[in-house]
Amino acid sequence: MANSTFDLTGKAVLVTGGNGGIGLGIAKGLAEAGAAVMITGRDAGKAEAALAELRKLGARAEFAAADVGDEAASRALVPRTVDAFGRLDILVNNAGTAIRKSPEDISMDEWRTVLDTNLTSAFVLSQAAFPVMQANGGGKIINIGSMLSIFGLPHTAAYGASKGGIVQLTRSLAVAWAKDNIQVNAVLPGWIETALTRRAREQIDGLYERVLARTPAGRWGDPKDFAGTAVFLASSASDFVTGTALPVDGGFSVQG
Ligand code: NDP
Repeated sequence: MANSTFDLTGKAVLVTGGNGGIGLGIAKGLAEAGAAVMITGRDAGKAEAALAELRKLGARAEFAAADVGDEAASRALVPRTVDAFGRLDILVNNAGTAIRKSPEDISMDEWRTVLDTNLTSAFVLSQAAFPVMQANGGGKIINIGSMLSIFGLPHTAAYGASKGGIVQLTRSLAVAWAKDNIQVNAVLPGWIETALTRRAREQIDGLYERVLARTPAGRWGDPKDFAGTAVFLASSASDFVTGTALPVDGGFSVQG
């Protein structure tokens, strides 16, 4: 990887929710490209296993426990990363949660939990990372959206609002911080086999097969599918790419 435009040697990355699922798939890709990786989440047990996998790849890897719905705890993840690795070059806003309910039944607490976890945390962390990246002469921010950044489903009003917001937040930050050489992009996963969708698969009869039938690639996604996309968006290979929302969905969003 040395001397390649995809090389991340010497870079430090913060991946929220990097202790499992898509976040860990991203963390492993960035670690293989040479980055030091700070993963976060609430579950320290899950993080131990994730750290072992990352260190097996030869990466420097640490875990910081935090609920990203808590503004102060979220903001503090930036100095914790800088303390661990001496810098922060790449921020991946991946932590996310879903509450599956009809809109008329969503409580305000549930609404706030989803919006705070999925959207406000991405804003807070980006704001906290900005001065560090600006002082470094640039940086990369990758926000994780969803097919529900584009489409609607009956039981995802809060989730869909948060993921639609992620795309517009990405565009605003991209335009505001282009002068600081900070590229901000979103990734929109299709249906991926993780803990998050395990619940939906259990609750919704026939979901697994319906997704297969609608996905041109003919399979559900795997967290590994995000490694290469993340390396591209985190590396100098994407220095002229900003404000985009890139589907990683096996063609789900373009199926007619
Ligand atoms: P997982 O449930 O496997 O992972 C979610 C991660 O977010 C976990 O590591 C979890 O860590 C962390 N997390 C959740 N809530 C909080 C919180 N309040 N504070 C800190 N960390 C939190 O799901 P996925 O990997 O599938 O999801 C990752 C992202 O991808 C999410 O933003 C999700 O919306 C998005 N996505 C997923 C799709 C899919 O099909 N799987 C499709 C589209 C988008 P911990 O449990 O330790 O807190």
